[in-house]
Amino acid sequence: MFGIGSDPEGDSPNVLTRIDEFLQLHGLAPSLGNIVRGFGIVTGSDAELSHKVRARLNQGAEITQEWFDSHDDLPPVPADPGGEYRQLAEDLERAVADFGRTTHSAQTAASNYGKDLARQVEQVDNLASTGSVMASLAHIARAMLDRTREVEEEIRRSEEEAKSLRKSLEKARREASIDHLTKLPNRRAFEDIFATEREDAAREVEPLFIALCDIDHFKRVNDDHGHATGDRVIRVVAQTLSGITDHCHVARIGGEEFVLLFRGMNAQATFDAIDHARAALAARHLVDKNTNRPIGTVTISAGITNVFDHPDMGTAMRAADTALYKAKETGRNRVEIG
Ligand code: GH3
Ligand code: MG
Ligand code: MG
Repeated sequence: MFGIGSDPEGDSPNVLTRIDEFLQLHGLAPSLGNIVRGFGIVTGSDAELSHKVRARLNQGAEITQEWFDSHDDLPPVPADPGGEYRQLAEDLERAVADFGRTTHSAQTAASNYGKDLARQVEQVDNLASTGSVMASLAHIARAMLDRTREVEEEIRRSEEEAKSLRKSLEKARREASIDHLTKLPNRRAFEDIFATEREDAAREVEPLFIALCDIDHFKRVNDDHGHATGDRVIRVVAQTLSGITDHCHVARIGGEEFVLLFRGMNAQATFDAIDHARAALAARHLVDKNTNRPIGTVTISAGITNVFDHPDMGTAMRAADTALYKAKETGRNRVEIG
């Protein structure tokens, strides 16, 4: 038990470590008062206090700061032979108390504290002749200074790690929400967009329409020109849909399927916007860049529905899909409102 009372002379090389350990074990701050009491306890130079501490520990009770402070018989802080000692000790105590709090402020505090402590160690060293307690304090202060530097370094390292982890996390989050072929948001990201837009549009009493869009006979492109060309066609369609209007979100939610969300536009405006894109695409004659062979016209079909006609995203998507199916059934290269 830290050799309480086993070293009345207090000059064992371990005494400082034992004071330090005693204070740490009981969660006591290394304040001047505590260090002096610790000295009396671990060296046994304060027989009464050592006895009381031992009795308390034997009862299974804790040595708390409150208990320490409420104790009338605690030894007084020794007299200050040099006149500077008390001020010095108070500075030390204040510097110790300053240390810590949150990671960032701790780093600043620790660095200031470290500087203060370094200065004080020097001064305490000069006063070491004032006795063994002072020498002990100097040793403890030096140990604390070393620990402070370690903590500072640890905090700096953890801050760097946290920063780099945060970056990786943001990158992973971005990656997880993007469709890599088209760079459009994917289905997962669209779910978030939908939730936000639905809430905002409801609050602002603005119309909100959702549209599903699918490339017509896309299998033929893959079959005739290969998968890589098929991918390029998907990109061309993605670009066409992205250019429709600023009032719409476009996401790729499947192989050659896209979803669009129009805010602040009524049914007719939404229909016109998509139909305009459909016609523009249908008017193009795409060429396979690799072979220079014409791909011909690529068309899309779309189904639109009013988001506020449905209780949730799933139901709205199904209604838009039913309208899309109707567009396919009635000849493709068409837009339907459901
Ligand atoms: P429909 O007009 O009825 O939509 O006919 P479709 O040929 O487009 O039929 P469907 O939608 O069933 O076929 C889609 C095809 O898209 C099937 C699949 O091989 C292909 N596909 C899915 N994802 C990709 C992709 O990322 N790249 C390429 N190149 N093809 C894909
Ligand atoms: Mg499809
Ligand atoms: Mg298709």
